[in-house]
Amino acid sequence: MTALFPHPRDETAIASAISDLSRIFPGRFSANTATLAQHASTLTGLPHQPPDVVVFPHTIEEVQSVVAIARQYLVPLIPFGSGTSLEGQVNAPAGGICIDLSRMNGILRIGTGDLDVTVEPGVTLDQLNVALRDTGLFFPVDPGAGNATLGGMASTRASGTTTVRYGAMRENVLAMKVVLADGTLISTGTRARKSAAGYDLTHLFIGAEGTLGIIVEVTLRLRPRPESVLAGVATFTDVASAARATISAVQSGLAMQRIELLDTAMLKIVNTHSGTAIPDGGPALFVEIAGTPAATAEHLALFTDIVAAENGRWISEESSDHDRRTLWKARHEAFWSVRSAFPGKSFHVTDVCVPVSRLADCLDETVADLAASGLTAPIVGHVGDGNFHSILVFDAGDAEACSAATAYLDRLAARAIAMEGTCTGEHGIGQGKAKYLAAEAGTALDVMRRVKASLDPSGLMNPGKIF
Ligand SMILES: Cc1cc2nc3c(=O)[nH]c(=O)nc-3n(C[C@H](O)[C@H](O)[C@H](O)COP(=O)(O)OP(=O)(O)OC[C@H]3O[C@@H](n4cnc5c(N)ncnc54)[C@H](O)[C@@H]3O)c2cc1C
Repeated sequence: MTALFPHPRDETAIASAISDLSRIFPGRFSANTATLAQHASTLTGLPHQPPDVVVFPHTIEEVQSVVAIARQYLVPLIPFGSGTSLEGQVNAPAGGICIDLSRMNGILRIGTGDLDVTVEPGVTLDQLNVALRDTGLFFPVDPGAGNATLGGMASTRASGTTTVRYGAMRENVLAMKVVLADGTLISTGTRARKSAAGYDLTHLFIGAEGTLGIIVEVTLRLRPRPESVLAGVATFTDVASAARATISAVQSGLAMQRIELLDTAMLKIVNTHSGTAIPDGGPALFVEIAGTPAATAEHLALFTDIVAAENGRWISEESSDHDRRTLWKARHEAFWSVRSAFPGKSFHVTDVCVPVSRLADCLDETVADLAASGLTAPIVGHVGDGNFHSILVFDAGDAEACSAATAYLDRLAARAIAMEGTCTGEHGIGQGKAKYLAAEAGTALDVMRRVKASLDPSGLMNPGKIF
């Protein structure tokens, strides 16, 4: 336990922390088993490690008082948004206090003139886009989980289907307010589009996974809704051809708003579970092109030429809102479709990202690896960014299957890093990928440790993650 958390677990200290929380947050804290279970990582093959107590603050001052209690008793503090992260980020391996930010869910200001918005951290992506519906603006970062919170998305440096066009959280957060491990409230960044004022602390907290402080307010960039959007599907004979078509589309500067790959196995599963009827003899690209009506039509024609050059087949064009929504709903439900296709199995979703020029190689080698190892791990991905996921299906009760699964994950991470890519494009390090970070970051890992030690010398903030 000491290697994981620098202080020995002290049952008396935890009981005292719970007693203080119950006094300060009557009706807004819980130590009941069901609530604790919901606040541990539930979506991956990693162990399920609930906290000792969950507290639901409403204000920044209340967040500061929870931090003060964690400091007083030297108890771990784990920030929680919606718990949709996939690498064990919200687990409490040393127990402690889970601080659930979901009730700090106010939209504080919508700046239609400046195309920005300020929100509390528990606002969900869906909630924000509903609130923006009548403004002609939207928030573009689109991870598959619409119930993810903006605080959680900033903390995992999330991205998604539209990152190829609009960037990830990294490009779309302008400013934040953060409560540090010593209780200090700081503001990072401003509403100005750019700033050269000192160290870029905003980006230090984006992707910190709750290990450096608690984000209590976020200011985000918004985008105008495009005038015209065309979507459609192309199928290919193999993933390398689909990847090459993606690379050509990106390198030609086409106005792609989404380019998503589904390999043959994934497409079959999606067809079965979402009722789509896309010919599924090979992999597919689900694409969306956005801009003016003339530009989208022209870029779609160019894209279909690219598909033909790779011996692919342009299947359909979905220009109505309803048809586009059906297509993207099927794509967003890919993870849940795999879960229902293999009842009783365990799952681990991994993601890697490589420079787009290496995408075809990385996918090709991964498909060959899966064929040689006999594992089931359908592939789906934001290939316009060189990023793809593999949803590993395995039997958690079979030790041999578990070690084969682990070996595959290790090979995939090593392959991406060797291609000058990363072991995670968007899901983060959490617990699951901590073992790969040294290979990717090298001596910079020591600098990360020093940043952590400087901002959280007692090691209270989300211990056991990243390092
Ligand atoms: C079906 C499915 C599809 C997904 N697809 C994508 C995808 O395409 N792209 C992608 O990027 N991710 C994807 N994810 C992963 C997940 O949605 C993201 O990681 C998301 O950003 C997590 O948000 P959350 O609110 O659930 O955060 P949580 O899971 O609650 O927390 C994530 C991390 O952030 C920390 N944290 C949460 N709130 C705060 C805060 N206010 N201050 C400081 N730290 C905080 C937590 O301690 C934890 O370390 C997917 C998940 C699912 C289930």
